[in-house]
Amino acid sequence: MSDKPVKFIDENGLRLDGRRVDEIRPMTVEMGVLSRADGSCYLEWGNNKVLAAVYGPRELHPRRLQRPSEALVRYRYNMAAFSVEDRIRPGPSRRSTEISKVSGEAFETVVMKQFYPGAVIDVFAEVLQADAGTRTAAINAATLALVDAGIPMKGLVAACAVGKVDGQLVIDLNKPEDNYGDADLPIAMTEDGEITLLQMDGNLTADEIAKGVEMVRKGCEQIFAIQKEALLSKFGTTDEMEILEE
Ligand code: ADP
Repeated sequence: MSDKPVKFIDENGLRLDGRRVDEIRPMTVEMGVLSRADGSCYLEWGNNKVLAAVYGPRELHPRRLQRPSEALVRYRYNMAAFSVEDRIRPGPSRRSTEISKVSGEAFETVVMKQFYPGAVIDVFAEVLQADAGTRTAAINAATLALVDAGIPMKGLVAACAVGKVDGQLVIDLNKPEDNYGDADLPIAMTEDGEITLLQMDGNLTADEIAKGVEMVRKGCEQIFAIQKEALLSKFGTTDEMEILEE
C-alpha cells in the first residue's frame, strides 16, 4: 500500500487525480453484456470495473423461503480474487456479507416486489478491479442490470460516496482518500432524492453530513444522466439519441 500523501488537495483546489472536490471519476456503462443473464451491465468508474447480472423473477427454492405477498430480492456483492493488489481469498467475508446486505436494502423500496409473490430476483455484483468505491459502483451497475432484466422499479438508484480530506469534503473518494481520509460516507438514492443507503466510517459533524449529502446529490444527478444515456442507447430510437445530443 502507498504511504499517506502529505497533501490531498493542492493550492488550486485539485485532488491527487486532478479532480475538483465535487467532481466524480469518469464513468462508462454498457448494458446487456451477458447473454445468459436476464439483465446485465458492465460499469467502469475510474479504475473500478464491475459486472452486474440479474436473474429472475423466477420461482424461489426452497419454497419455505418464499414470501406470499412479494418477491425476495437477493443481492450478492463479491470481489474477484484478482481485483486488488494482494489476492483476496475466494468466498464470502464479513465485509462482502455486510455490503451485500446493505446494497440489497438500497433496492428494497424501489423494486416493485409486489408483482411477483413467491419469486426471487437475484442480483450478482462482481468486482473485477477495485480502486475504492466498489459498493457504490456495484449499485450503479445493478440498477441498470435490473432495468435490463425488465424488473419494474419506481425509478433508478444511483450511489456515490462523500468523505473528508485536508479538512474538506470530497465526493467519490479515490484510493488514497479512502485509505487515509478522515471519513467515508457511501450513499445511495433514488431519482426523487430518497436515501436508500447511508453508511459512515470516520467522523463528520452534523453540518458536514448535511453538506456532504447535498454534494452526493449533485454527483448522483450526473450518474442518473449517464444511466439514462445508457438506457436510451439500448432501448431508444435514433431520433431520441439526436435530441439528447443536441
Ligand atoms: P468500497 O470499495 O465500497 O469503497 P471499502 O471502503 O471497504 O469499500 O474498500 C475500499 C477499497 O479498499 C476497495 O475498493 C478496494 O480497493 C480495497 N479493498 C477492500 N477490501 C480489500 C481487501 N480484502 N484486500 C485488498 N484491498 C481491499
